Amino acid sequence: MQHANRSTFIKEKAFELGFLSCGIAKAELLDEESVHLKQWLDQNYHGEMHYMANHFDKRVNPTSLVPGAKSVIALAYSYYNPTQQTDKEAPKLSMYAYGKDYHKVVRKKLNLLFDAIKSEFGDISGRVFVDSAPVMERDWAKRSGIGWIGKNTLLIHPKKGSFFFLAEIILDLDLDYDDPISDYCGTCTRCIDACPTDAIDTNGYLMDGSKCISYLTIELKEDIPETFKSKMDNWMFGCDICQQVCPWNRFSVPHTESEFAPKTELLSLTKEEWQKMDEETFAALFEGSAVKRTKYEGLKRNIDFLKEEGSDL
Ligand code: SF4
Ligand code: SF4
Repeated sequence: MQHANRSTFIKEKAFELGFLSCGIAKAELLDEESVHLKQWLDQNYHGEMHYMANHFDKRVNPTSLVPGAKSVIALAYSYYNPTQQTDKEAPKLSMYAYGKDYHKVVRKKLNLLFDAIKSEFGDISGRVFVDSAPVMERDWAKRSGIGWIGKNTLLIHPKKGSFFFLAEIILDLDLDYDDPISDYCGTCTRCIDACPTDAIDTNGYLMDGSKCISYLTIELKEDIPETFKSKMDNWMFGCDICQQVCPWNRFSVPHTESEFAPKTELLSLTKEEWQKMDEETFAALFEGSAVKRTKYEGLKRNIDFLKEEGSDL
């Protein structure tokens, strides 16, 4: 089968499995990107996320992850859900965490796609990734033509916005490759202006991860620094602001993944109920959810911080 036909087969399968977008790039060294990664790490913008500094070679060289790698299939899987939390004063939860843990849900889909590729093309070696190994997901999605990396440093699809997970299959099969697309941020600065902690550089395209609310509420194990008092905009787990204000997200496509459907009570909990939540309720509410990552104590810390800062709580 010709390379182009192989790529068409893979993309058709990806759409059948519910992926929002699929692009393919040649598996080669991420040369320019590795320079940016190094600068970002040197500025300590990864904060306490020490794992970001590990496995530098694996991050920038796909053949370090999959020997003999020829291609990177980049995929997007929507988590967009227009339903909001009912109590406008309740501490906010990032939309990606409404349902079951995406690592498991998307990995299942990736495995199905990889199985289909193997049964069509024979003995192929490769690995699937979803935020699970040192893979530069946004850079591969950009190289694969899925979208451009916006000033908010997220991958933006020109017809489907940015509320999606990224995933990859790196494999030793030659395929037909896509070209990157242009950057359509233009003169817009909405994400930079809206970020409550000034985590995005004034010129965009660069983020101080250690100032991002997602980092402060999920990654940071210590207390949230006092300097962020009154800057959290009532977010208790993650933050969606720089996506909510992005004009390209008017094109977001709601997901159809039943596993991402939130438990009804999750969106209807009141401010008081969040504040008084006990460990048992937390465990039942977030069974199989990515929110479990912070553990009960972590979420409680975040809610208490919001309470103390007297923002919207
Ligand atoms: S997620 Fe929130 S805190 Fe982080 S850069 Fe975007 S707007 Fe700023
Ligand atoms: S809000 Fe504007 S500047 Fe920011 S990523 Fe979206 S289009 Fe680009």
